[in-house]
This record gives sequence, structure tokens and C-alpha cells, in this order.
Amino acid sequence: MQAGYREILDSGKEYYEIRLDSIGGLGANLCGKMLGELGLKYLDVNSSSFSSYGSEKTGTPVKGFIRYCKKEKEIRLHAPITEPDLLVSFHEEFLVDANGNKYNVEAQKIAMETHSRINVVMLGAILKVMGVDSILPGEEICKETLGKKYPASLENNLQGMRRGYEEVKLIDRKTEKVECDKNNQSQDPKWGYLTAPLGGINPNYGNSISTNLSHSRQGYVPLFIKEKCINCGLCFSACPDMVFQFVKGEYKGRSMMINTGLDYDHCKGCLRCVDVCPVNALVRGVEAEQENLNYNMPNQELLRKPIYYETAGADGYITSESFLTEKRMEGGEV
Ligand code: SF4
Ligand code: SF4
Repeated sequence: MQAGYREILDSGKEYYEIRLDSIGGLGANLCGKMLGELGLKYLDVNSSSFSSYGSEKTGTPVKGFIRYCKKEKEIRLHAPITEPDLLVSFHEEFLVDANGNKYNVEAQKIAMETHSRINVVMLGAILKVMGVDSILPGEEICKETLGKKYPASLENNLQGMRRGYEEVKLIDRKTEKVECDKNNQSQDPKWGYLTAPLGGINPNYGNSISTNLSHSRQGYVPLFIKEKCINCGLCFSACPDMVFQFVKGEYKGRSMMINTGLDYDHCKGCLRCVDVCPVNALVRGVEAEQENLNYNMPNQELLRKPIYYETAGADGYITSESFLTEKRMEGGEV
């Protein structure tokens, strides 16, 4: 491991800066807080840490910013970190140090094997790549923070962190730090609102058209056991992403909305639905073990309905009411 926090601070650089790039739900916010506290208490440096994230907890972008400096110095800089000495990507599970060396740790796999969380595994890996020569500071901060909040899972979290520390490995060594060529930097965005071509969609994850949130999952999915379902609709209310597809139907002789399944593209794996289902018709399953997810239903709201268009007109989906009004104005039958 090279270019540890201590060497960088001793070389005269004002701050050693870490940036965590993550998505909500993987615990980057807490990891950043623990790193900040750990620096101050156990690494003999001054530290600050803060995160930026949106209103929704799971699946949306989260960034954590941690700064260390020598003890004598006061931290007066509170801007986001754009050129970190250590860049950590939680979802892709890699770390890049100040020399451009890239490291990888199988955080999700370790977290599942040890029944811990991805953030503690990443914390262990971060400490190793930062050049902290023992896992003890990490263990101490873990006991202080998670030991109080989740005492029952402390041992698992410690185990996950130790494995992160031990199993992080260098995967790509750069001999020289790649200097950024300012001339090559784009001065303007390639597409702005004035230059973007009209129309078209971005089919990538996380855009507002496909709303594919499957990359947010942490290895688990809700599995639907239809025979048990009493169509109470609690999962529909609890799910933040309209995953459940209810259609009009009949249950025990009564006409009602029936749960037909889940659109797994929208599911970010928060498992709130599993918590609320009163009859265990939803259970947690390991995603890797499910080759075909049963009851994987496309979102009914996004389905184009040719017959509906044919009967209601081209704008029928969006403005069926105005279509009816037009028909009335034309004297047609409604
Ligand atoms: S786990 Fe359940 S509640 Fe969470 S997004 Fe998926 S379907 Fe919705
Ligand atoms: S909460 Fe459970 S029982 Fe109720 S509709 Fe959803 S899956 Fe069915």
C-alpha cells in the first residue's frame, strides 16, 4: 500500500481527503462519520466529515467527504472534495489511492457471509488502503458506534470489517499519477439544454424513464408467495417505488384489487414490503439463487395499451378526459 494518510500529511499537503461515492442504503453516511471520529480519536489528526444525499433513503446518490489534517491545524474548509487522495466507490467496491492505484474488495459477498453490512467491510478496506497499520482503531470505533446501536450484530460487523481489511487487494498499479490535462477538459457539457437533440431516452440505470433501480440492491430481493397473499395492499403502501402490480380482480368471491406480482426493475431491495406483509406472503430471498424471479410483472402503469389508444384516441392515455370533452363538443357519443 502506498501514499498513506500519514505520508501525505508529512509531505506538507494541507489535508488528506477521502471521498465516498455510494447510493443510499449501503451505509456510506455512517461509514464517513466513523472515519471522521476515528481520525480524531485514534489517528492523532484533526478531522471533519459530512455527507450529501437526497430526501429518499435508499437507492439515490450519496457522497461522503472526510478531511484529515495535522492536529495543530484548524479545519476551516468545508467544501465538497473534488480531487480526493482516496476515492472509494461503494457500489462498484473499489478504491483508488493518491497514486492512482486501484484496489478491490468483495464487500457485498463478505457482508453476506459474515451477516454484517457493506459499510463496515468497506471501512476495513479503507483503513488498509489509507495506511493504518492495524485494524484496532476500526474495531474501537465500531464498538463505540455500532456496539451501542446494534449490540446483537456487533461481532458480525467486527468480523466483516476485519475481512475487509485483510481481503482488499491491489488490482491495478499505476506507476505515475495521471496528471489531468487541463486542455483536454471539456469546457462545456457535451449536451446542454440548448444543444441536446430533441427526443430520445437514456436507457441507463436510474433515469426517470426506465427507473431501473436493480443496482441498488444488496444481494437480497423480496420473493412473492402468491398462495398466501390476502391482497391487503400493505406492501403497495409501504413500497417507495411502485413495485407491486395490482389489477382489478376477484378474491374469495369479492371484487377487489389483486396483487399480481412485482416489477423487479423498480425494486431497490429495501425489504420494507417483507416487514409489513402480515401473512408472510413476501419473504427475503438471496438474489443470486433466483434464476427466474417468479411473479416478475412489468409495471402496469407504463404498459402501452394499443386497444385503449384505438378506442380513446392517440392522446387518450394522458388526456382521456379532454378527448371525451372534444367528443362531446363534436356532438359525438361518449
Ligand atoms: S424491497 Fe419491497 S418495498 Fe423495497 S423497493 Fe422492493 S418491492 Fe418495494
Ligand atoms: S402485504 Fe402481503 S398479503 Fe398484503 S397484498 Fe402485499 S403480499 Fe399480499
